[in-house]
Amino acid sequence: MARIFSGIQPSGELHIGNYLGAVKNWVQLQATHPGAIYCVVDYHAITGSYDPAVLRARRWGMAKSLLAAGIDPAKAVLFMQSDVPEHTELSWIFTTITPLGDLERQTQFKDKSAKVESIPAGLLMYPVLQSADILLYRADSVPVGEDQIQHLELARDTSRKFNLKFGVEYFPEPKPLLTPTRRIMGLDGNAKMSKSLGNTIGLLETDDEIWQKLRPAMTDPQRVRKSDPGRPEVCNIFQLHKAFNDETTVTNVAAQCRTAGWGCMDCKKVLLEGMVQELTPIRRRSEDLDAEPQQVLDALADGGRTARGIAQQTISEVREIMGLGAMTAAALG
Ligand code: ADP
Repeated sequence: MARIFSGIQPSGELHIGNYLGAVKNWVQLQATHPGAIYCVVDYHAITGSYDPAVLRARRWGMAKSLLAAGIDPAKAVLFMQSDVPEHTELSWIFTTITPLGDLERQTQFKDKSAKVESIPAGLLMYPVLQSADILLYRADSVPVGEDQIQHLELARDTSRKFNLKFGVEYFPEPKPLLTPTRRIMGLDGNAKMSKSLGNTIGLLETDDEIWQKLRPAMTDPQRVRKSDPGRPEVCNIFQLHKAFNDETTVTNVAAQCRTAGWGCMDCKKVLLEGMVQELTPIRRRSEDLDAEPQQVLDALADGGRTARGIAQQTISEVREIMGLGAMTAAALG
């Protein structure tokens, strides 16, 4: 059976882009693939400047939000990356077989490094750590959004290089598992929805907060007046309808848009209804977890133990393969 691994940064709140692109899939996969491994990748969240107190709160908030979104510790392994130091150990090993040019070519590195004066080496090495995150569990299937496809190519290269260099068939070649909503755009309609861009709708926001964000959100730019017919295929709001509403509603929304039967506000109100229906139970579960924080801590502690067990086994086998295994008198022979 496929081994599933995926991670998410605690660099902000869990948003509907993360949810529709990845986390909703995580929840479905834990049913069909018991033992799926999901990680809050906190070592990935320190490559830029940050406030330690804020990071502490966000690590907690992300773990809680994942449980609220439906990750079930009885089916899946949920843990904090920094609780399993083997991630950084394998990452170092992988830096020794990763060509610098491959890292400099990564789109996310080019985008993020263009925005800072002094580029931390960690920003460049980020996909190496990500390859280590996945391969530490010898995972072959990684549920992610579209933005991670290039990083996964690098993880596959790393796996191939390691196996070739040491003449083994040890690591698998991890493939992305994408959802139909693999790329959710931000509310400005210009860039992907992302924690770092401040263009998100948080998974735990109240109905009113969601509405305040939907109201001014970008629709079809050519639809200036209510009487202008719209083009659902270019409208970001329509994409969200497809994610949150059933097929009958989506078909009706498209027809009302094309014939200018509804204005954009009418359409957004119907979207809000669909969102409220899906997100309210998640918000309620999050409130329950706020009242019982020990549940989150217990889930992370259990998950950390399970993950560490697998990680230690991998690292010990990797060391053996590389000539870094334990030195015994017999082996020195
Ligand atoms: P962010 O870009 O918000 O910081 P992460 O890098 O932590 O998100 O990614 C967590 C998961 O969410 C990844 O699988 C990523 O592909 C997915 N994801 C992030 N943003 C989006 C989006 N706008 N649409 C679809 N999936 C997304």
